[in-house]
Amino acid sequence: MGVPKGKTSKANRRMNRASRYTSEAPALAVCPKCHALKQPHHVCMSCGYYNDKAVLVKKWSND
Ligand SMILES: [Zn+2]
Repeated sequence: MGVPKGKTSKANRRMNRASRYTSEAPALAVCPKCHALKQPHHVCMSCGYYNDKAVLVKKWSND
């Protein structure tokens, strides 16, 4: 494992922590199949499709 060469100053540490607090909302894409909002490059949680392929099969649905 890499070992840090020097101590991170309090100011640098605070700047590192402050960078996690972003006001931007996570990016969302529209599913081309069901037009629901989904995360880009992720399987759609609404219809279970990715790139026109059924990736997730809903086993709990009755229809
Ligand atoms: Zn979908």
